[in-house]
Amino acid sequence: MRINAPKGTQDILPEAAVIWQWIEENVRQVFFSYGFGEIRTPIFEQTQLFARGIGETTDIVEKEMYTFLDKGGRSMTLRPEGTASVVRSYLEHNLASRAGVTKLHYFGPMFRQEKPQAGRYRQFNQFGAEVLGEDSPLVDAEIIALATDIYRRMGLDNLEVRINSVGCTVCRSKFKEAIVEYLSPKSEELCESCRKRLEKNPLRILDCKSPVCKGLTDLAPGLEHFLCDECNSHFTDVKSLLDCLDLHYEVDSRLVRGLDYYTKTVFEVIYKDLGAQNAVCGGGRYDGLVQEVGGPPTPGIGFAAGVERLILTLEKQGKLPRINWGPQVYVSVLGESPQGTAFKLAQELRKRGIRTEMEMSSRSLKAQMKTADKLQVQLVIILGENEIARDIVLIRRMSDGEQRELALSEAVDVIQEELTGLY
Ligand code: AMP
Repeated sequence: MRINAPKGTQDILPEAAVIWQWIEENVRQVFFSYGFGEIRTPIFEQTQLFARGIGETTDIVEKEMYTFLDKGGRSMTLRPEGTASVVRSYLEHNLASRAGVTKLHYFGPMFRQEKPQAGRYRQFNQFGAEVLGEDSPLVDAEIIALATDIYRRMGLDNLEVRINSVGCTVCRSKFKEAIVEYLSPKSEELCESCRKRLEKNPLRILDCKSPVCKGLTDLAPGLEHFLCDECNSHFTDVKSLLDCLDLHYEVDSRLVRGLDYYTKTVFEVIYKDLGAQNAVCGGGRYDGLVQEVGGPPTPGIGFAAGVERLILTLEKQGKLPRINWGPQVYVSVLGESPQGTAFKLAQELRKRGIRTEMEMSSRSLKAQMKTADKLQVQLVIILGENEIARDIVLIRRMSDGEQRELALSEAVDVIQEELTGLY
């Protein structure tokens, strides 16, 4: 029986991998320009970290984590997101003691046992950024600007930025009381998930896609009316800083996000044409998280962006780059005796950074030319016994079939020159 990749996972084949590399390069350039160093944390952590960090009543912790017991009977979980690990590492290595505010970025796979669909996978990749140790609204505006700059750098447009404030624990608990009071008499009308949320996590009802729940919460008291003075003025400052940059956003009072740790500013970047899974990036402030995982009170803010959804967006907008990664030169070998010379020539070309493929099985010239054609190389270098005897090689330009002789000693220089002309 053939074994396929697990449901919800994907292989990234060479032609796609070059796009991933291009994305990584672009993303890192922007992160570095904002002063975010890279952090690489383990792919699995103690389950406790996510349970405490993300929140016991979130969908992720309740039903989506890949959790297993290791051989020592300890509960481990494949990371479903990056922030909790970064915060753990920040505390473990006392990064707070370093100069300035801690600004970190990451790039890597995350794991959630969700129902796979377009734009939603079980192993997916995120890049993200975290700022720890600063509560100024400037940081909120900076992190939103950073996220949008990444997309702009890759040539994307028509992305929408949505922001909201979910307040601090004080204003949020007042809001929770009010919404529970408002919705309890109507609880029968809510969808099954929201009935549970009403008890455990009422804020998430605002996020429900069911039209009935939406209708009910439309008329419910809005979160914005419960913000305390401090949260209100923080949100006003964030908005005016974004205005300063002419960064367009919409305030979406329903935006609450799926993770429990958020406080004050939350935001998402949306590309509407992606359909149901249209959020390419999401994040927010989490001023209580460091304490939640055992550290001192420390403000924090960050975002995470899905790479697969970014690729879908690039595809939809026709912005996928064309990257040449296949061989430029095919060294064709006729018979066995030229093999050594051909191998040496191929190595010389590779040393100069020329992508070179060489015939390994001494097939007929016709078969070799067919392969070279399929590989879309620009030049074929032909080496047979005849050429070896005369210290020459044949060079064939694939675009027009022109073929000529070159002295073996000057072949590498001429090939290099010829390729520069072809690009
Ligand atoms: P979250 O960590 O849930 O806030 O998600 C941040 C971003 O990661 C989203 O906006 C998506 O772009 C991406 N993302 C989250 N979950 C998935 C998934 N299951 N499959 C693919 N991308 C995802």
